[in-house]
Formats: sequence, C-alpha cells, structure tokens
Amino acid sequence: MKQTLMIKLSPNPEQYKALLETMERFNEGCNYASGKAFETFTYGQFHLHHIVYNYLRADYKLSAQMAVRAIAQVSESYKIDRKVQHSFNSHSAMVYDQRILSWKGLDKVSILTLSGRQIIPTRIGAYQEARLDRKVRQSDLILRDGIFYLAVVVDAPEPTPDDPNGYLGVDLGIVNIAADSDGKTYSGNQVNGLRKRQTKLRGKLQAKGTKAAKRLLVKRSRKERRFATNINHTIAKSIVAKAKDTGRGIALEDLSGIRDRITVRHSQRRQHNSWAFRQLRTFIEYKAKLAGVVVKLVDPRNTSRTCPVCGCVDKRNRPSQARFSCVSCGFSSPADTVAATNISRRGLVNDPHFSPALVGVGQGKAVCFS
Ligand SMILES: [Zn+2]
Repeated sequence: MKQTLMIKLSPNPEQYKALLETMERFNEGCNYASGKAFETFTYGQFHLHHIVYNYLRADYKLSAQMAVRAIAQVSESYKIDRKVQHSFNSHSAMVYDQRILSWKGLDKVSILTLSGRQIIPTRIGAYQEARLDRKVRQSDLILRDGIFYLAVVVDAPEPTPDDPNGYLGVDLGIVNIAADSDGKTYSGNQVNGLRKRQTKLRGKLQAKGTKAAKRLLVKRSRKERRFATNINHTIAKSIVAKAKDTGRGIALEDLSGIRDRITVRHSQRRQHNSWAFRQLRTFIEYKAKLAGVVVKLVDPRNTSRTCPVCGCVDKRNRPSQARFSCVSCGFSSPADTVAATNISRRGLVNDPHFSPALVGVGQGKAVCFS
C-alpha cells in the first residue's frame, strides 16, 4: 500500500527563488523533450534519451539526474495518450529521486537546484514524522498557492486486523443515528421523518381497528423496516470503509449485560427503534470482519459524561441531550462526538502502545459519579 505525505517546505527567499527557477526550467525541459518525442514518434524513455539528453544538459542546464527525470516524466505521460503533443505547465510538479533529494534528519531536506544543493527546513508534523522511516518511493516538488511542498510517497504496511493504527470510535444514537470520533455524524433525518409520520399513522389506524387498517399497518411497518435497513447498510459501509482506509480498527460500546444505556436513551428509541440499533451494530461488525477491520468493544460507562480534554466525569457535563459542556474546564462539543472520542480512546486501553495520559485516566482529576 502506498501513502502520500504532504510536507511543507520553509525555504528562505534565495532558496525559494532557486526552487522556483529550477521547477520552471525543468518544465521547459519537459516541454522541449515532449515536442521532440511527438515530432519523432519517440516515446520510449531509452530512445528519447538519445535524442534530447545532451540538449537538456547543455541548453537547459539541467543536472544529469534532472534531465533523466524530465525524460522519464515525458515518456510516462505518452504512455497514457499519444494523440496530442503534451505540454507542461511551468509550475507542474517536479519529480525528485534520492540522487537529487535527500533527508538531513527529519526537519531538513537537501534538494538539488540550478544554484546547487539547498538545505531547506521542513515543517513536519508528528504524523508525517512517524511515517518517514518507511521506504520512500518518490518525492514530488509541488507549488501550491505560492507554497512549496514535497509530496512524499512511502510504502505503508498493510494494516493487519491485529495491529490497527488506533481506533475509529463510533457512538450509536445520541442525536444522530451514529457519530464517529473524527467528528462526522451519520444522520437519519429521512428515517426519523418517516418514522414520525408512521407513528402518527399507526395511532390513527390502531384507533380505527378495522381489518383493512391492520393490513395497511403491517404493510407500512414492513416498508419502514426496509428503509431503515438500507440506511443502516449505507452507514455501516461508510464507517467500515473509513476505518479501513485509515488503517484503524473500530471501537464500539460493549452493551452486553448493560440495558440502562438503551433505556436512558428511550427518547431516541422512539425515533430509531432498538432493533435498528442492534441491526446497525451487526452490520458494522460483519462488514468490518469482511474488510479485515478489527472491532473492539469497550467499557460503555460514562462515555457521554467524560470530558475528553480534562477527564472530568460528571452528569452535569451534559446540560442537554445534544450538548456536552464540561463543568470543570469548559470544553464544549456535540455530545455524540464527545462520546465517540471517548470510545475511540478506550479502544487503545489494552493495546501494547497504550498510554494512560491519552485516555484521560489516572490523572487525579475530580471524578464524581453522581
Ligand atoms: Zn473538561
């Protein structure tokens, strides 16, 4: 599996100028090589090299390896389409390999420019730092909105179910049908709207009590069920895909033996029946299994009352069904996102790389289970 890390460069003004000049010259060189390739029907890298290499070196002053990269880039582009001559924008990405780009530690990179090698500081984040020790395939110099970046392609190990890269926490049904710890909510507005109409209608039909009314009632509730099932399939699919794409497992609350969680939330139950919740869990679990994504069941106690910032556990942290607002530190956020975040962190608890500070336990904070 390949992964691209975008790393911002912080060149000084001279270095910026050198990078820009090099990029522009490189793309001029590509345009020249592209013209020759098209004119002479020479698209293969080897043959094109014989035609253009000396000119790229002498006329465009590209270094040997830059000339090789330019020829490779042009040749590559004609693999896709040979009907028209390809032209390169003066600020098109420039491909670097390890001969003309090398890392000096993690916060500096040495890049060959027309004005010689430049040691340029990078703005590297912890996420990128953790992944840069992997085998670097290729680095593209990119100019976007006046800022230079390196797009570094690295080999990312296939995540195995036993070794997930953290957990996507999923909370089922505070305000939305589901919410995940990345802040995304999966709403069932359509389902809830339909449900309300159905509940009304059901009341009417039941009051009537005729045979025809009963038949209609059965038909309606089947339709309602099918509809909710479709929504659950869609939500489960998108949650599992997200976890898989990011190499994470999925953390869910362990509800076995705990009934009060459901009854506490009886007000939502009317909108999204408990069978629908069970179904969504089942869908997530089996789709995850198919995709090789691990599902971890975590302790459900106080997931929606615990502050993810300071660790304070208090009933009063939930001024309303939808809102979380910490009485201790003031942190405020939608309640379902907070619950999903806590669930996500609890997923790490039994993992080998578990850090207590990360899950907000054992910090000696005031805890009141009132
Ligand atoms: Zn707090």
